[in-house]
Amino acid sequence: MTPGAPGPRSRALARRAARVLVGGVDSPVRSFRAVGGSPVFFAAGRGAYLTDADGRRYLDLVGSWGANLLGNAPAPVVAAVRRAAGRGLTFGAPVAAEHELAERIRSAAPELERMRFVSSGTEAVMSAVRAARGFTGRSKVVKFAGGYHGHSDGLLARAGSGVATHALPDSAGVPRSVVAETLVARYNDPDGLADLFDRADDAIAAVVVEPVAGNMGVVPPRPDFLRRISTLARRHRALVIADEVITGFRLRRGTVHRTLGLRADLVTLGKVVGGGMPLGVYGGRRAVMETVAPLGPVYQAGTLAGHPLAMAAGVATLDRLTPELYRRLERTSAAMASMLSERAERAGATPFTIERVGSMLGLFFAPGPVRDDRDAERSDRARYARFFHAALDRGVYLPPSALETTFVSAAVRREDLARARPAFDAAFAAAGAARR
Ligand SMILES: *Cc1c(COP(=O)(O)O)cnc(C)c1O
Repeated sequence: MTPGAPGPRSRALARRAARVLVGGVDSPVRSFRAVGGSPVFFAAGRGAYLTDADGRRYLDLVGSWGANLLGNAPAPVVAAVRRAAGRGLTFGAPVAAEHELAERIRSAAPELERMRFVSSGTEAVMSAVRAARGFTGRSKVVKFAGGYHGHSDGLLARAGSGVATHALPDSAGVPRSVVAETLVARYNDPDGLADLFDRADDAIAAVVVEPVAGNMGVVPPRPDFLRRISTLARRHRALVIADEVITGFRLRRGTVHRTLGLRADLVTLGKVVGGGMPLGVYGGRRAVMETVAPLGPVYQAGTLAGHPLAMAAGVATLDRLTPELYRRLERTSAAMASMLSERAERAGATPFTIERVGSMLGLFFAPGPVRDDRDAERSDRARYARFFHAALDRGVYLPPSALETTFVSAAVRREDLARARPAFDAAFAAAGAARR
């Protein structure tokens, strides 16, 4: 594999893009700002590998931020999208593929008694929050620090000083008055959530939570955390929104929150269910979902919602998600995690911690265990940046930011991991040990 990524073509494309696109990208993390350097432009992907504009090959451990569970360009999904495109790109009217995908989702996740397709995870969570507010007649929403639920105004909020507080805007352009409706608790801290409920005087419409946090690296829920959320929400008659945009259909065929002890009224999906096309889903208890138009007073719509190509990609993807596929994915992911720990130790790259749930790996250049946003924030960004670039130079594409999830796809084989080992050795050597 050729060292020196990104090559001259990627660099030239980045310069050109920066003259028309804001920061040269359509989503900020793609810009490599978090790790430094110029972004790699990809030209093609097949299975576990990506090819960049300079013809260099990389083992793909980003998988389009978790969307590509089956790897890049899986043949049956591409064929289904081609067939659908031949019949028409969009009608703005119902097509059978919408309920065909919805039936598959519900048979794997029966708690989505009724659902609605939207075009992104952001829209899914934003709409679920609106439905929860419409159903309960309440306005406040609780999220957890370090959780990401898309970029809608009310959820772009971070914790103020201390635990369990009123939120502060996490972006310019988000009014304080909007995030005044958002309360922030600490992940894995059910007592903090109990305090919030006590102080919020039954104004809380919903608690939104990632059953396995995947946007501050990977932070698994502690044994009682999710169960306590359910109990508290029920006691205060607030709804629970399980944000499974990452975990849904990635960790098993269906959702994971129930297995982990969380009772949700609404569930959001995205990423994997779209099979690589833009798609979000929100759904849940029939009584709550039927507050949404045209049946109820909560308005929500979309010109391209239920897009035929996204439906086709979703159906073709779900039809490939067998128990055997998840067993294999678990084996490869476990092998990947133990290989990384071993190589880190061998290189003396300490501290280094992996938090893994299935094919979601959180790589932290920090001591473990990682329980919340504060622990995650201790990860050494400079060491991660060196690790990232050394791996990239040797043909391994990792998330270009220290606090993102590394995703293993079903296209990755044990041989691919073995082939990547020298790249990881070099990457851990570059990361080095923390200076004390
Ligand atoms: C990615 C993500 C979203 C937002 O989805 P987009 O499709 O990027 O809008 C929401 N929630 C979680 C948990 C996510 O990981």
